[in-house]
Amino acid sequence: MRELIIDLDAIAKNLQTMRAKTNGALALAVVKADAYGHGIIPVAKKLEAAGADYLGVADVDEALTLRAAGIDLPILAWLHAADETFVRSVDAGIELGVANTDQLARIANAAQQLRRVARVHLKVDTGLGRNGASEAEWPNVLKKAHELVAEGFIQVVAIFSHLSCTSEADDLKQIARFEAACAEAKSADIDFELRHLVASDGLLRYPQAHYEMVRIGVALYGLSPFVENTAADFGLIPAMTAIAHVTQTKRVAEGEGVSYGYLHRTAAETTLALVPVGYAEGLPRNATGKAKVSINDKIYAVNSRVAMDQFVLDVGNDNVVAGDLVTIFGDPAAGVPSADDLAAACDTINYEIVTRMGGRFRRSYLGLDSTGGN
Ligand SMILES: *Cc1c(COP(=O)(O)O)cnc(C)c1O
Repeated sequence: MRELIIDLDAIAKNLQTMRAKTNGALALAVVKADAYGHGIIPVAKKLEAAGADYLGVADVDEALTLRAAGIDLPILAWLHAADETFVRSVDAGIELGVANTDQLARIANAAQQLRRVARVHLKVDTGLGRNGASEAEWPNVLKKAHELVAEGFIQVVAIFSHLSCTSEADDLKQIARFEAACAEAKSADIDFELRHLVASDGLLRYPQAHYEMVRIGVALYGLSPFVENTAADFGLIPAMTAIAHVTQTKRVAEGEGVSYGYLHRTAAETTLALVPVGYAEGLPRNATGKAKVSINDKIYAVNSRVAMDQFVLDVGNDNVVAGDLVTIFGDPAAGVPSADDLAAACDTINYEIVTRMGGRFRRSYLGLDSTGGN
């Protein structure tokens, strides 16, 4: 009745497309938040088969889910609860983004307890204001890391940071701060193999900041990180298509109100088609009046109130019948609205649209067979 069709081959191609824009940098594929709504396990398996070097997630629990599914790639997790002990993650060989000396101490405790060496990526805040060591704290983080390396508890794999993508001037300032922080780490005698700073946006804008690794998120899913560009501008293929089948149609007279609040009234005798997708599925309620969907190659406006489970289309005298396929968004190359279109209609970004798709949507996958083991 409702389906998210996920094209894993598109995701594999998008990885190659983005990687080809670097000068051989390692690719960390970001699969946090259930792979931006695409399904973390099938997506991660496909990316592993497609040659991703690393997987990236926010939470340790997401990383453990990947390990439990038999994924052996290096995995980096960077957002930790205040009371995280890191025992399970160090035990599972998860690499940890570290922002302060307190986290370093807890990771070293876990490593000591497990008789393992924990692999850490030291995170410096170069101006995003999220979880990284501030300029003032950075020397303390480096000093603590140096001690714990000497004691044999940790290995510093990388120095990393994240851009705010506010303006080119702001980003260049962050790049300069990042290079200064890496130089400080060198002076503090920290041995690290990798530097990583850019996500999809920075990868496309700042070739000088690719360093040894890039972290690719939204572009893997075939979406542009920029509002002013489409995915096609970068050779990316949207991987998610959201469809549903009309559950019922009926003829109604002129002047009938449709859905809650009667935001739409029929202008003439017409056919109403009921689509079983609502805000529980992640179709924002404020898509009402602005979003468009496609049925049988024709575009219809969602002009009555989106409800929890469903919305209603006024299809005039068109021959729309129960069971007809409704595309809510997909690859615009196929003539259907894009996730970008829906995002614009809802005053948000494509990231939020795909990530929130869920509820009672069933996911089906194209390209599963070539991942081996699905
Ligand atoms: C989410 C995230 C990314 C991926 O960003 P995209 O814009 O989706 O490419 C990279 N790095 C960090 C730290 C993130 O939180």
